[in-house]
Amino acid sequence: MGGALGSEALTLPGFVHDVGSAIHPLGVASPFMRSLPLARFGLEWVQPPAALAHPLEDGAVLMYRSLEETAAGLGADEGAYLRLMRPLVDGWHGLLDDTLRPLLHVPAHPVTLARFGLRALPGVSTLARAAFRTPQARALLAGLAAHSGLPLSVPGTSAFGLMLGVTGHAVGWPFPRGGAQSFADALAGLFTELGGEIRLNAPVTDLRDLPDVDAVLLDTSVPGFVRLAGDALPGAVAAKLARFRPGPGAFKVDYALSGPVPWRDPRTALAGTVHLGGTLEELELAERAPHEGRVAARPYVLVAQQSLFDRTRVPGAGETLWAYVHVPNGFEGDALAELEGQLERFAPGFASRVLARHVSTPAALQGWNPNLRGGDVGGGANTLWQVLARPVLSAVPYRTPLRGVYLCSASTPPGGGVHGMAGFLAARAAMHDRR
Ligand SMILES: Cc1cc2nc3c(=O)[nH]c(=O)nc-3n(C[C@H](O)[C@H](O)[C@H](O)COP(=O)(O)OP(=O)(O)OC[C@H]3O[C@@H](n4cnc5c(N)ncnc54)[C@H](O)[C@@H]3O)c2cc1C
Repeated sequence: MGGALGSEALTLPGFVHDVGSAIHPLGVASPFMRSLPLARFGLEWVQPPAALAHPLEDGAVLMYRSLEETAAGLGADEGAYLRLMRPLVDGWHGLLDDTLRPLLHVPAHPVTLARFGLRALPGVSTLARAAFRTPQARALLAGLAAHSGLPLSVPGTSAFGLMLGVTGHAVGWPFPRGGAQSFADALAGLFTELGGEIRLNAPVTDLRDLPDVDAVLLDTSVPGFVRLAGDALPGAVAAKLARFRPGPGAFKVDYALSGPVPWRDPRTALAGTVHLGGTLEELELAERAPHEGRVAARPYVLVAQQSLFDRTRVPGAGETLWAYVHVPNGFEGDALAELEGQLERFAPGFASRVLARHVSTPAALQGWNPNLRGGDVGGGANTLWQVLARPVLSAVPYRTPLRGVYLCSASTPPGGGVHGMAGFLAARAAMHDRR
């Protein structure tokens, strides 16, 4: 239960793995989540000492909750980092209010949004080189932006880097104690208390099978919606939606380990999240590969090491590790060697700690959750156009041509991530229409 937010014992008994999402800055920071009393339903956030570590050959760069502490680790780019990030971090409430919604709207905080937009529009390849001199600061920003799943020269990738940096400094990059499932369980607990009823394992294949109700909110992919709507959807709309493109796939591996990862730079163990991929130049090569139909020899690996800070997830001295790389959408090959190559590179001897591993290919991810089309974890490619028109260009893109039917998944604004904003805004549109 919980869609791409859930935990299971994927490897060995007692090892709790997050099957989908792991790290939840927007789970804390989104205006909708901030409004919910989830602690009452057992949700407890764990904040590691550092949000992020980005190992390089000569040591790791760390991103702490503290802006100043992070900047102090960037040498000659200390001042540049503060100049880039401080105005955005100071205005984070307004920034999130204006960005976690359809972009077609009158901004409530125009100055903050304009400041953000100027920095966010270029590709991160450009911004990182313009803003910073050191390989450390450039790699840090590029690693953040690489969450977009786009080649790093693509306009708009900077937005992802900046937003993730801002949330890291504003609220940290926490994760739920006990596993991502406890976040989903808390949401379900609140929903049930409010009178909601949840039916599990009940796939809907045709909208006509649903009861006659005032509003239907569909948490489905775009093709999933088109299939459900069938003939009821005007052909021109179906044709337009068919052009909505998925992002790259994910090739994910969950590990049960006998002990902590032997990071070459031990400070890497201070962070809940680790970006493996090296310098800006290496990351540029890595993130181009999935869009050229291949896996990079040295891919960008997203790693989470929650059990270091949450012993409820592991038995004895064991550890879990959550890791994935971007691969072409629908990739049918094997990326294990490339993924583990990066782990060995920055943590020599990693392999000797592996007790068990569980591989999720793009097909396995989609089999688990049909929204993860071709292994796409973000509900659609994050190109500038698809951020603006998600999945159509409209101030209320949650509305569909079908009366009373709304789309509210990551394929609507503000896109991927566990923030609840799409559901909240779709529900608001439905209530408005009903009135
Ligand atoms: C491997 C992975 C890692 C991620 N890491 C992070 C992270 O660290 N932090 C973060 O914030 N986000 C992360 N994400 C992204 C995040 O999990 C998703 O963006 C988010 O869960 C999307 O929410 P959603 O409500 O759109 O859809 P989902 O969470 O996918 O939920 C949709 C639900 O609807 C069900 N459904 C779909 N179609 C039908 C149907 N026809 N009938 C019945 N049920 C149906 C699905 O089975 C699923 O249960 C990750 C995702 C994955 C897969």
